[in-house]
Amino acid sequence: MLEIVRPGDRHYAAVRDVYTATGRPAAVARPSSTAEVVEALRLAREAGGPLSVRSGGHGISSIATNAGGTVVDLSRLNAVERLDGNMVRVGPGARWGDVAAALHPWGLAISSGDSGDVGVGGLATTGGIGLMGRAHGLTIDHLVAAELVTADGMVRRIDADHDPELFWAVRGAGANIGIATSFEFRADPVPVVGHATLQYRVDDLPRFLRDWGETVESAPRSVSAFLYLMGTEFALATVVYAGDDAELAGRAFGPFTAVAPVLGQRAQLVPYAGVVAATHAPHRGQQGASTHTGLAVHLDGPVTAGLADLAATGTTDMLQIRSTGGAVNDVPEDATAYAHRHQNFSVTAISGAGGPPFDEAWDRVRPSMDGLYLSFETSFSPSLLEAAFPPATLNRLRDIKRTVDPDGVFNQNFPVGLPSESSGAEGRGVPHRSGTPASATASTSV
Ligand SMILES: Cc1cc2nc3c(=O)[nH]c(=O)nc-3n(C[C@H](O)[C@H](O)[C@H](O)COP(=O)(O)OP(=O)(O)OC[C@H]3O[C@@H](n4cnc5c(N)ncnc54)[C@H](O)[C@@H]3O)c2cc1C
Repeated sequence: MLEIVRPGDRHYAAVRDVYTATGRPAAVARPSSTAEVVEALRLAREAGGPLSVRSGGHGISSIATNAGGTVVDLSRLNAVERLDGNMVRVGPGARWGDVAAALHPWGLAISSGDSGDVGVGGLATTGGIGLMGRAHGLTIDHLVAAELVTADGMVRRIDADHDPELFWAVRGAGANIGIATSFEFRADPVPVVGHATLQYRVDDLPRFLRDWGETVESAPRSVSAFLYLMGTEFALATVVYAGDDAELAGRAFGPFTAVAPVLGQRAQLVPYAGVVAATHAPHRGQQGASTHTGLAVHLDGPVTAGLADLAATGTTDMLQIRSTGGAVNDVPEDATAYAHRHQNFSVTAISGAGGPPFDEAWDRVRPSMDGLYLSFETSFSPSLLEAAFPPATLNRLRDIKRTVDPDGVFNQNFPVGLPSESSGAEGRGVPHRSGTPASATASTSV
């Protein structure tokens, strides 16, 4: 029987909030089968009000809680099963750390993000810029089929032969078209990886960023590298070599020690599961922050100058620079609804305080960016929608949306709007968030 948790129930406190915000939903439906997801969706539509779809509860572009509406919480759909060979089936409610731990004994891994607590559902419907991305592509590039519950309550298996348009859309804009209830991925045979962490002292930020960018781009594509900058003088890096050859990994890591003075470093061979372990910390809205994001082809010229100026404003608590490129860019841009296949970096600025000073500081960086990965952006406007989805992608998504979700039931996460609505989702009751979400309350900062 479908469990529904309401205010006053014993378990309400455990299910009302997410990682990035607190909430006050009227009902949290906790399905344990696809049939119960269908029922939960029907009840939510009958109840009216906001509908939030939650997998791991780590959403940034869309918070998976609300005030007064319904949450469909998929955390119980968290099975990880092996199918044939390298094929695995994963529930949306699994966390990526748990997926990595389950795949390890089978000698397999799937590149996901840098946090093992992130849920499968949110990440696998938008992209998945991961620590083996340059070697093996985005998470969505491993998706072979999915099960989807659409707004009409139909359960569809979508793949290259069945509902191919929906299969295209789920890989980049899945939240627009339905609730994904399972994913079939082709995993890679890389259970063990080289994992290096480095701490840098930064003396000249624009130059450091340029040298970092050149080092990443000249590295073999078996190397992916994420950089985290605090202020203007200190940076942490995670560099992953997608393979278990210690000598090759060491050789690949070498150039990263020459980017700037290294204050500390560590390199080891570890199971990929050890790089992205899940903590399962309870959700209390503990990471409510504002973020802005963009993609960049190279870290040079106006990009590095702009990011250095941004860091100097003091409005930004952390700058994250994730490598993309490599195998990510082998995929044609019209193959999936994530169309950004020529950039080499994803840049995200995080601010605990948020507000106009942060927004204005980022506005000066934005013109140097080339597209946007929606998963890292907390604000929404039609112009950002156009950065997330180039015109051909957006038009195709709107045609699909008109067919599969004509009533705009799924309107929480960069909603593309219908073809008749030139301005996208603005004015359709979609929550807008810049710092504090409209429908729930973000609390502490990063
Ligand atoms: C600490 C942290 C680190 C991160 N690092 C990375 C990274 O390295 N790389 C990267 O690519 N991303 C990263 N992200 C972003 C992350 O991929 C997104 O925030 C993602 O949406 C989280 O997935 P979730 O299932 O936990 O989210 P949830 O909060 O459960 O869902 C977020 C939104 O996704 C949609 N959604 C969720 N499940 C489904 C479903 N089953 N079907 C349809 N739509 C659904 C809904 O609109 C929902 O509101 C990070 C996020 C955090 C908080």
